[in-house]
Amino acid sequence: MALDVQAIRQDFPIFQREVHGKRLVFLDSAASSQKPQAVIDAMTRIYTHSYANVHRGLYTLADEATTAYEDARGKLARFINAADTAEVILLRNATEGLNLVAYSWGEQNVGAGDRIIITEMEHHANLVPWQQLAQRQGAELAYIPVTEAGELDLDVLPGLLADGRTKVVACSLMSNVVGTLPPVTRVAEMAHAAGAIVVMDGAQAVPHQPVDVQTLGADFMAFSGHKMCGPGIGVLWGRRELLEAMPPFLYGGDMIRTVKKTYAQWNDLPHKFEAGTPPIAEVVGLGAAADYLSALGMDAIHAHEREMTAYALERLAEVDGLHVIGPGADRRGGVAAFWMEAAHPHDIASIVDAEGVCIRAGHHCAQPLHECFNLPATARASFYIYNDEADVDALIAALHKVNRLLQR
Ligand code: PMP
Repeated sequence: MALDVQAIRQDFPIFQREVHGKRLVFLDSAASSQKPQAVIDAMTRIYTHSYANVHRGLYTLADEATTAYEDARGKLARFINAADTAEVILLRNATEGLNLVAYSWGEQNVGAGDRIIITEMEHHANLVPWQQLAQRQGAELAYIPVTEAGELDLDVLPGLLADGRTKVVACSLMSNVVGTLPPVTRVAEMAHAAGAIVVMDGAQAVPHQPVDVQTLGADFMAFSGHKMCGPGIGVLWGRRELLEAMPPFLYGGDMIRTVKKTYAQWNDLPHKFEAGTPPIAEVVGLGAAADYLSALGMDAIHAHEREMTAYALERLAEVDGLHVIGPGADRRGGVAAFWMEAAHPHDIASIVDAEGVCIRAGHHCAQPLHECFNLPATARASFYIYNDEADVDALIAALHKVNRLLQR
């Protein structure tokens, strides 16, 4: 069923406000999404009725908080179809999940002379941890190139994998700049056939399309709760046998079973990777966000964004001197990064803000990808469940104003 965008907007209190006396047009969900009342309520409820630290308490409030926290983990496991809730690790953000894998799995499994393969379209969160791991271990870092059309050039992959030295291939499910949806399952098949593990960055995909970790071909996948209507939090999913074999990333309370003066033993999964007090209300809020998105239907969300993206690309083509980077609408998710001959991306963002339109400008934490296009920065509009064609129309009108003001 198609999304009822007007009804969805009613669920998000932020859309009751105006910006500069104009209707709020929020086109920056790729950075972080807005929050529905159901998520705000779930967090308020735990703070007002059931708040206490989790796992160690022997009193009612602690018990209620622990149940709410662990129930939310179960919801997230179902949301990505994890085979086991213990494979779902709750962290600060997607970046922490990717760092956890690069440190914990990486330092144990990647040595001098080994190879790590990533792609030129990665967000810095799935690039810098691997670059630094390669430097620490004396390993080689190789890149799958991006074509002019913003697609991965997979022709180089068989050659890179042929000598069996590759230990890990890391790839995002969707680019946060060009919106490309790479053929990740094919990449995973090739990587696995060569004996490498596969780490996927699901930050831009999990909020927008059905993702099933049992069929995806990933060994690890990180994603952000705050981009899927939840609060500031992230999730790492990993295959149980890999997580079991890995050392902890952070040490302290909750992640141990026994501590003696000279040694310690680790708690079971997932607690081994959740040291210290976790973001309790945030986890509960993210559970409510998973419920909210599931009720709308991930297939319906994906279909809606495809339509929005096709419409946006068509309308952006009408703006004089504007160039969108990346593939056509049938090959990308709901993101459109562009540059204009008349204006710097920061000026574009400021001018459209005066019309109530929120877009992002800069390198979007993907500097090597921008280098592929010889651009230091772009402006970026991104779409979610609460956007409709009227939002795109408002953006286009504001972009015509950019040209008018800068006399193009
Ligand atoms: N990967 C991609 C593709 C992203 O778009 C982002 C967020 N911009 C991240 C990783 C990092 O996510 P987080 O902010 O939750 O660490």
